[in-house]
Amino acid sequence: MNQIRKDYLTDDRVLIATIRSSRPRGVPEELAEKPGFECPFCPGKEKNLAAAKVVYLRDESGKIFTKVEEEDSRESCWLVKVLDNKFPVFEPVESTQPVEEKDLSYTIPFGVHELVVDSPRHDNYFHIMKSDEVQLLFQVYRDRFNELARDERIQFISISKNHGPKSGGTLLHPHSHVISSSFIPNRVVKELNALEAAENCLMESVIARERNSPRFILEQQYTIVISPYAAVFPYEVWIIPKSHASNITKLNEDEFGELALVLRDACRALDNLLDKPSYNFIINQTVRNEKYHMYIRLFPRFYFETGFEISLGLPVNEVAPEKAAEELRRFFGG
Ligand SMILES: [Zn+2]
Ligand SMILES: [Zn+2]
Repeated sequence: MNQIRKDYLTDDRVLIATIRSSRPRGVPEELAEKPGFECPFCPGKEKNLAAAKVVYLRDESGKIFTKVEEEDSRESCWLVKVLDNKFPVFEPVESTQPVEEKDLSYTIPFGVHELVVDSPRHDNYFHIMKSDEVQLLFQVYRDRFNELARDERIQFISISKNHGPKSGGTLLHPHSHVISSSFIPNRVVKELNALEAAENCLMESVIARERNSPRFILEQQYTIVISPYAAVFPYEVWIIPKSHASNITKLNEDEFGELALVLRDACRALDNLLDKPSYNFIINQTVRNEKYHMYIRLFPRFYFETGFEISLGLPVNEVAPEKAAEELRRFFGG
């Protein structure tokens, strides 16, 4: 059973995830390109996977509809599908009560870890997807949020993507993670504390300030893109809806649609500027706290963190956000 444990001295938490230790390791490009490697997400391999929780299909008139896969049958002409992750970070356990072990303690977090196969095409990466494909994927994200949030134990839902061999992902076939839990990770707790203590929405102050700063990248009707002042990663980008929304279900259709496409374009800009980098994006949002102002954090990955950075919690970023913004402005829409 995976456990959340607290550091001896600080408030920092770690997830002891022994259940993940049997997942494939190594550089995914090598895994994928090895002769004989069979991608489990490619069409034709459905039988090797568990039945999907939801499959998105298109009917003859072009309308999208969903279906639950039966245990003994598999859909072949799917557009997107949702599975339970074989190697979950969180599991739907019964009890989440703290367990005492002498002077130490742990909790067993409740949660659901889903995997979305974004496309049937092995190399249809997010940043090259067509607009209607991106819109459908975001619709799937929103459907999963709505479904998972129905369980009152769920306090946190993250939607993220690991693209490329340095992203931490283990398969190249485009897919996303939807991780929901009763546990709210440290960063979000700290952000919520700051947002709750402030009189006005802090993120809206950020938008107002950065709109005219050297870190500004792009503004559209409902969305703004900046390189954050204290960027942890070189070329880190934040994509922020301008109106106050705590999660993707609180955006109206126009805001929602624009956000999806701006994110795709930001990934594309990074891909063009930095020569096909690995990248991660994560939708930071809350399930039940309206004070939160959601945003998407996107960062390319060039290297693994050093011992200094990991051990001391002091990330080292070698590219000034102002320089990153200046370069990225030129690549938007390209
Ligand atoms: Zn594949
Ligand atoms: Zn706000």
